[in-house]
Amino acid sequence: MKDAFDFAYFEGKIIPLKDANVNIRTHALQYGTGCFEGIRAYQIDEKKFSVVKCKEHYERMEKSAKILGMKFPFSPEKATEITIELLKKNKPDSGVYIRPILYKSSYDLGPRFCDIPEELSIYMIPLGDYLDTQKGLKVKVSSWRRISDNSIPTRAKVTGSYVNSALAKTEALSGGYDEAIFLNEDGKVAEGSTENIFMVKNGELITTPETANILEGITRNCMLEIAKDLKIPYKTREISRTELYASNEVFFCGTGVQVAWISEIDGRKISNGKIGKVSKKIQERYFDAVMGNIDKYKSWVKKVQI
Ligand code: PMP
Repeated sequence: MKDAFDFAYFEGKIIPLKDANVNIRTHALQYGTGCFEGIRAYQIDEKKFSVVKCKEHYERMEKSAKILGMKFPFSPEKATEITIELLKKNKPDSGVYIRPILYKSSYDLGPRFCDIPEELSIYMIPLGDYLDTQKGLKVKVSSWRRISDNSIPTRAKVTGSYVNSALAKTEALSGGYDEAIFLNEDGKVAEGSTENIFMVKNGELITTPETANILEGITRNCMLEIAKDLKIPYKTREISRTELYASNEVFFCGTGVQVAWISEIDGRKISNGKIGKVSKKIQERYFDAVMGNIDKYKSWVKKVQI
């Protein structure tokens, strides 16, 4: 399998990926001055794909840009059109992960967002599961705290802020875990290194609030919508670390991770260490929904014939 599809949208046009390169002096490479997205397109059959929440991802990118003082060059609708054109041009033969990135592209010295030109590029890679969704993840609460919104805006998907995720993930992997959970500077649970987190406690589905220094995940919203439809009581509120240990179920969600349940946190089994009923129900419904198989969630996906 190739590690990336052949064409990219690069600074205004679709060109071969091998030519879609930036210079070592590029501002965003030096200072992390950019924002990005991760979008999935699931393969339905040989020629048909289901692109999930594409417009919503570009809407978030537009907001990320606004927060950073950058300008997203297109409407989310137009960016979706370009993405679909690129998908067709790439003719993928597997599930696709789509990575748009808006970045400060000149060679100016000194970190700032003003008076520096920016560019949008998009590339696509094949992607199956980012993390195992079936086996039960072994997870560690990180010694690294989640960045706070007042240092690097957390609801913006900022390239530079992923140093924080990389530190937590590295610590988790080197300790033999699959993934990390961040606490925020208040000591409350925030999210995973690249995913939001949910727990089930006494039959109620709970996730951390928008003010917990999380990225406001698009999949997180899908989980809440599914919970509502399945009549599972749900709420967003602060979660303490030890509540997770003592909870009935915990799972991660995100575009990359999809819905992946957690069997163990810091060496403590969650319930009996098996997938819980609520996690299973939500996971199954999510996987059906993103393939475009559930009428109720048809608006989540754009089906594309390549
Ligand atoms: N939090 C972080 C830090 C992330 O990187 C991601 C992945 N984009 C998420 C949460 C989940 O967001 P989404 O569901 O929009 O992919």
